[in-house]
Amino acid sequence: MARYTGAQCKLCRREGLKLYLKGDRCYTGKCAMEKRAYPPGQHGQGRKKVSEYGLQLRAKQKTRRIYGVLEKQFRNYFQEASRQKGVTGSNLLYLLERRLDNVIFRLGLSSSRVEARQLVTHGHFEINGRKVDIPSYLIKVGDKITIRDKSRKSTFIKEIIERAGEKNTPAWLEYDAEQAQGSVVGFPTREQIDVPVEEHLIVELYSR
Ligand code: SF4
Repeated sequence: MARYTGAQCKLCRREGLKLYLKGDRCYTGKCAMEKRAYPPGQHGQGRKKVSEYGLQLRAKQKTRRIYGVLEKQFRNYFQEASRQKGVTGSNLLYLLERRLDNVIFRLGLSSSRVEARQLVTHGHFEINGRKVDIPSYLIKVGDKITIRDKSRKSTFIKEIIERAGEKNTPAWLEYDAEQAQGSVVGFPTREQIDVPVEEHLIVELYSR
């Protein structure tokens, strides 16, 4: 399970917007986008003109980075999305939203998708009573996501459970604060996915 291990803030600076990859820090004055809101590197403050290809590439990179997916896996998602009925760009986002690490983040059980990924790989969650430690696991309607009994004893997980209710859960998910259990009540619609991405640019890029 390969993942990006470089500097997270550089990715936000490259994309020119906050991707909220570092959880709570992203909401403080320590955020690199507050101090240096220009691309990293020697030419970061240089040329501003972007070609059509550049726009398409940035849309793809931004989406990949928001969901923490590497190039090959992202392309696989795209191929799967293009095989499905409907609009390929939207299908791509639906698939990415259904990833277990994203669902944990959406339920408010982590402060970022990066943290969610780590919690999943450390085996803190069960789906329908079975341990799942694969961040790319695709949830289905009716799935119940719970924190494992063993994990609930940890102070860190207790804090996560306490904080979970604070976030607005999207309409396609439900969170039961008493049981600390999430349920998938439907699949998201495009309007319910609040990522700042123009997915048609990704389709155009891969159609070149
Ligand atoms: Fe991005 Fe968060 Fe770093 Fe700010 S603190 S640049 S939002 S990862």
